[in-house]
Amino acid sequence: HTKQSGRNGYTFFTPAMQASTSRRLRLLQDLRRAIARDELLLHYQPKFPASGKPVIGAEALLRWQHPELGLLGPDTFIPIAERSGLILAIGDWVLDRACAQLRAWHDAGHPGWSMAVNLSPLQFASPALVETVRETLRRHALDPAHLTLEVTETTAMKDVEDSLQRLNTLTAMGVKIAIDDFGTGYSSLLYLKRMPASELKIDRAFVRDLEHNPEDAAIVSSIVALGRSLQLQVVAEGVETEAQRAFLDQLGCDLLQGYHLGRPMDAETFLHRAG
Ligand code: C2E
Ligand code: MG
Ligand code: MG
Ligand code: MG
Repeated sequence: HTKQSGRNGYTFFTPAMQASTSRRLRLLQDLRRAIARDELLLHYQPKFPASGKPVIGAEALLRWQHPELGLLGPDTFIPIAERSGLILAIGDWVLDRACAQLRAWHDAGHPGWSMAVNLSPLQFASPALVETVRETLRRHALDPAHLTLEVTETTAMKDVEDSLQRLNTLTAMGVKIAIDDFGTGYSSLLYLKRMPASELKIDRAFVRDLEHNPEDAAIVSSIVALGRSLQLQVVAEGVETEAQRAFLDQLGCDLLQGYHLGRPMDAETFLHRAG
């Protein structure tokens, strides 16, 4: 078994290892105990206006400090959590911890910061979601407008009528909705128009070669135009260079995230860097 340390500093597996059923079973067994053993943690990636500072908030990104395998990224274990249903308990934990952190940052002198939390398909479909969100915000005395829930385009467009109803309930509560990884799914513009979202997050696949690939630039400016006309903020993810930042700003993107501006980091570092 070979193990490498990836660019994010966490462990990833070769395809052969990912395909291994025994490894998956092992991870699933370990994951069942991960919350109780306090092995899950959140990193926070800052979100900036395209024109520059100051930071407007963070996206919470889940990690697992596995006792033997090291720091694992979500792509290693979220699919397992999703298939087993464990994601519901894990998702509740993430929401609670992210809201607790936001409360702490507000109290530490940054009352304007917002927090974005990713929802998996199963969490989004769960009948308990709306009450869990309401109760968690209440518990941490947060204004719902400071919480953004990120659902991927594919998740949001599945079972569209149910999805719209759920999004409307959350929006009525005051929570914001971001459509994540936009451009990689199969959006119906008809549904997008009815969707009460406040953000479109352009998938980083379109950002990677932006300055050298005219098609990518055309796609990004189309998404910006679409966002404008639907009154959505457009966020670009995966910004790795100053040239990309400048280009995205020029194309009219509102907000940016990426290694160039800030990597996902622990809460203390986040406060230290931004505060
Ligand atoms: P996402 O929500 O689209 O998050 C963006 C991913 O891109 C993160 O990977 C982030 O670390 C990475 N990233 C940010 N900037 C850059 C950059 O400049 N270059 C590159 N190459 N990558 C960048 P991460 O943390 O590994 O998360 C992967 C996915 O796992 C997330 O994609 C999200 O779909 C899912 N995820 C993360 N945390 C949670 C969670 O708490 N709950 C659920 N259900 N899903 C989560
Ligand atoms: Mg996200
Ligand atoms: Mg994304
Ligand atoms: Mg993604």
